Order: sequence, then C-alpha cells, then structure tokens
Amino acid sequence: MAVLVLKFGGTSVANPERIQQAAKKVKAEIDLGHKVVVVVSAMSGVTNQLVDYVRSITPSYDPSEYDVVVASGEQVTSGLMALALQQLDVKARSYQGWQLPFYSTDKHEKARIDEIDANVLNDCFAQGITPVVPGFQGVTRPTKEDRGRITTLGRGGSDTSAVALAAALKADRCDIYTDVNGIYTSDPRLVQKARKINRIAYEEMLELASLGSKVLQTRSVELAMNYKVPVQVLSTFDPALGSDLPGTFLVDEDIMMEKQMVTGLAHSRDEARITLTNVADKPGMLARIFGPLADANINVDMIVQAASDDGKTVDVTFTIPRSDIVKTTEALTANKADLGYNELQTSTDVVKISVVGVGMRSHAGVGQMMFKALAEKGINIQVVSTSEIKISVLIDESYTELALRTLHTVYGLDAA
Ligand code: ASP
Ligand code: MG
Repeated sequence: MAVLVLKFGGTSVANPERIQQAAKKVKAEIDLGHKVVVVVSAMSGVTNQLVDYVRSITPSYDPSEYDVVVASGEQVTSGLMALALQQLDVKARSYQGWQLPFYSTDKHEKARIDEIDANVLNDCFAQGITPVVPGFQGVTRPTKEDRGRITTLGRGGSDTSAVALAAALKADRCDIYTDVNGIYTSDPRLVQKARKINRIAYEEMLELASLGSKVLQTRSVELAMNYKVPVQVLSTFDPALGSDLPGTFLVDEDIMMEKQMVTGLAHSRDEARITLTNVADKPGMLARIFGPLADANINVDMIVQAASDDGKTVDVTFTIPRSDIVKTTEALTANKADLGYNELQTSTDVVKISVVGVGMRSHAGVGQMMFKALAEKGINIQVVSTSEIKISVLIDESYTELALRTLHTVYGLDAA
C-alpha cells in the first residue's frame, strides 16, 4: 500500500467527461489499496480566459485580486472531481488552498510555497476519505491586519502544488497526468525518431524545463530534486494506470543505469540576438553594457566577445528573450554615449539548440561531436554556451529541424 499524489493537468480535466475518466483512474488506484491525494488543474483554456477577464477590466490590476480570479478555475475542477469520485463510491471531498492550509509567500501571481499542513490529509486517510486539492492556489498567513489572501503559484503552478504535497506527505509517487505520455528525447513533432525517455535525472529535467520544454513547471522540478520526490509523467489518454509505470520517471542521477552521453535535445525559439559592434577593448566594458540590462530586469543568456574587423575594438554578441527586444534596444540606445559602440544589430531569426545529459560529466568530446555534425550540414554556429550537463548553440532558425534531426542521430538517440 502506497501513498500517491495524482495530478491531472488541464487537458485531463477539460470537460465533465474527461473528469469522469480521470476519476476512474483514481478509483483504480484506490482499489489497488493505495491512499490517494488528487490535485487538479483548471480546465484547459480556462486560466487564460480568467486572465483575459482581469486584463479587460484594467491592464494595471491589483495582483491580489488577479489571484482571486485566476485561482477559481481550480476550485471548479476540484469540486467536479470530488463529485465524480463520489459517483464511483469513493468517499471524496475537496480542500481549497485556504482550507488545508497551503501557505505561500505574498508575492501575488508568482507566490512561493512556504509550508503545507499535511495533517488534514493524513486525517483524511485515517477516515478513508480521498482529498481533492486544487493546484496552483495558496494562501498567505493571516496577520492582525489581514485575514490572509488567496495566491497563485505562477502559470503551470499546479505541478508545483502536486510535488509539494507529495514532499509534505513523503508520498511514494507523484504521478503527473498530462497530454503526452512522457518526456521525449526531442520534440516528436519535429523529430520523427524521437523516443520516450524512461528515466531522466532531476537535473536533466531541470535543464529541459528551463530550456522551454513545457511539460513540467520548472519550480516543480526544483522541488522534486530537493526533496527527492519520485515523479512520473504519463498520459491521461493512455489506458495504463500510474501503478503500471508507463511514463517517464524523474530519478536521482546516481541510479541512472545506462549513462549515455546525451539524454535529450531541446530547442527554444524564444531567443533574440543582439550585437554591439566596435566596443572599446578595455576593462569594465561588459559591466557597463550589462549593468543597464540587469537594471531593466532583462535576462541575458549566451554571451560572446570577438575582435572586430578593425582589429582594435571588439564586437559583443549576446542573447535575450525575444519579448525583451524593445526594452533591450531602448536601454542600450539610451546608454550609447557611455558605451561608445558603433552599431546595434538585432536578429530574431535564431534558435537555441541544446544537448543535455548527465553523461557529459564523464564523457569528453560531446561539444566537438556537435560542432562537427552541424558543420557537416553547413550550419553556422553563432554563439555557444555550456554548463556541466548542457551545451547550447545559437543557429539560424531555418535550420531548427535539420539540426535537431542531425544531432538526434549523432548522439544515438534515434528510435530503432
Ligand atoms: N491553471 C494554471 C495555469 O493554466 C495552473 C496549471 O494548470 O498548472 O497556468
Ligand atoms: Mg501544466
């Protein structure tokens, strides 16, 4: 008998029929003798709709009222899920974030979890009750002046709710039911030979999540890694049950059996490249360039500095999120006199391709394989950045698929 947290994402609870389907999976786990906590997202599309409602009243809204509105999608599905379970003769009831309570910081829209009182849930187990908890929502601690306010954990935050509950309960497994049947070696829409990964190290998943694989919220992976929560990602449409272990498991690096060089590839189109030409080659220039960007809260990712054509100055190239391009050019233009560059060039026709694998710690030459393979296809690499378990290159966006397929083959990831 195990303690399980079962989390159902937006597509898994998209309508009453889907909720009834999901309830059957919950019931099947209970029938196997497991103690289950259910965590639900809002019906897919609903949170976007709620955000639009808020913005249509005012674009400069009060974030605490925003949270009241957008947290409501999960309230609806938690009640519906409890009802669907009751129809299957499961003793179920919902607990909203404030009822548990699920304490968070007061940073509305992106609150962080502070502390969860799991006692209520343990009491439920003792009484044979299956609790249903809305993901995404928290509550601030009441103070003398204030009775506490509803918060939300950032978009995609119900993954984090589920993992946090699993950590608090020391659950045996946290199953995340979603619309894909696991984590893939690359995006299957672009790489036909992509394969489902059976086991992935937390740290690899963290890289993939922050590189834009939208399957899990990045914070949920951080939390899973810190508390060593056994998380499984699996499909809600697959008839297999979580306990059949059909999905992708997040595991500790040490228990990865076959340490290949590369576990998966990621790509991100959310990149823009900026080049400042003819910057003076003297100490302190990079600090002067990136200072104003940091002040404007712009996340600079890859950076390269190279000699300019004149041989006396340097060109500084870096990447930023595409949505920050206006802010970035404004900040750099405003400081042009101080920075003394010649031209400011921007490009959005770029993609960042990354190879990720804990195997890189023990294998040399991973980068070289990548550079050679891309060169053979005539793909020019504009910028490179590396971490211990990741190598990223910035290339022309039109080569996205060619680069992914080539690297997928080179690193031996192709499905047989
Ligand atoms: N409903 C929220 C969102 O769409 C939270 C979640 O589904 O994880 O962002
Ligand atoms: Mg999600």
